[in-house]
Amino acid sequence: MDPLRHVKPEVRRLRAYTLAAREAPIRINQNENPWDLPEAVKRRVLDKALVRPWARYPDFDPRELTEALARFSGWSAEGTLAGNGSNELIEALLMVTVGPGTRVVIPEPTFTLYALLTEILGGEALRVPLTKELRYDTRALVEARRQSDAAVTIVCSPNNPTGTVLSRHDLERLCRAGDGIVVLDEAYHEFGGETAVPLLDKHPNLVVLRTFSKARALAGLRVGYLLAAPDLVREVNKARLPYNLNFFTQTAAFAVLEEIEALDEMVRRIVEERERLLARLGDMPGVRAWPSKANFILLELLEASPRAVFESLYRRGVLVRDVSAYPMLSRCIRVSVGTPEENEAFLHALGTALGEAGLDLGADTGRA
Ligand code: PMP
Repeated sequence: MDPLRHVKPEVRRLRAYTLAAREAPIRINQNENPWDLPEAVKRRVLDKALVRPWARYPDFDPRELTEALARFSGWSAEGTLAGNGSNELIEALLMVTVGPGTRVVIPEPTFTLYALLTEILGGEALRVPLTKELRYDTRALVEARRQSDAAVTIVCSPNNPTGTVLSRHDLERLCRAGDGIVVLDEAYHEFGGETAVPLLDKHPNLVVLRTFSKARALAGLRVGYLLAAPDLVREVNKARLPYNLNFFTQTAAFAVLEEIEALDEMVRRIVEERERLLARLGDMPGVRAWPSKANFILLELLEASPRAVFESLYRRGVLVRDVSAYPMLSRCIRVSVGTPEENEAFLHALGTALGEAGLDLGADTGRA
């Protein structure tokens, strides 16, 4: 008996996308909004859910929510698809485009799910490194697209985990380099203030992905959406599972749209905090904070080991993301911007951790 022999070899070779289950009083490891939705809003959602029969399916296709998301984004409802988190829509898009041997251009380092899903589907992820300054190498991306006749190119802007942004000009260059689909993952766009939605009209091969998990404080309920030309959306929709958005989530998504001004205010505060954190980290010896247009900062540790700093912060109640296994980031951790109190606690813990981890590193390498 060897049932595993029936699992695709490309899947057997892969490592799962996982996140160690750790708890801490200060969790700045998942780029969430540190402030929750107001309790009154949550109660409104609960009340609506209570009167609705739970034994009945939600909408087969969340039409009303899709229309509301389209109006909110300034794009057509036929060109909008709502998903159970934007992850689901990345998967649906790749399912309808990628088969054995299909090429997908992906810059690196970036969000690891793109390459993972591509490879599960039998496609080939063509990885294009960022420049040494962690910028997008647009010329290399255009070249890779052209040479490989790539079906899809996926760029995240601002990029997770580097905070790198792709300019509008460079995005248009990518869109014009062949008819392959260009996916722009805008999971963090609210913190940078730029969006590619106005370009959708001009580029029928452009797909914009967005989420309510970051700026919109709804990671726990899973809402994402995809914006593209209606023809393309009709095809992606074929891979969307029926009833993908449960009624609770749909109700919460409407509540978020009603609360958008309060959420925009949270975004302003997060951006302010990011700039304050960047300035403070800029004065700290032993670290280099990379500029960021997102709600997180990539921190390069110039002397201490990322793992040791991660553990030392954890012992002080601060959970960050160790990204040192990512290509080019072997000296890095990533920290999400929290509330002002959380950020202060983090800065304080980091000061101590750097000293402690520096000594650990010395011990690891046999130096004093
Ligand atoms: N895209 C990027 C770049 C992300 O960082 C994440 C979450 N870490 C997602 C998409 C997934 O978001 P969602 O919660 O909408 O599935």
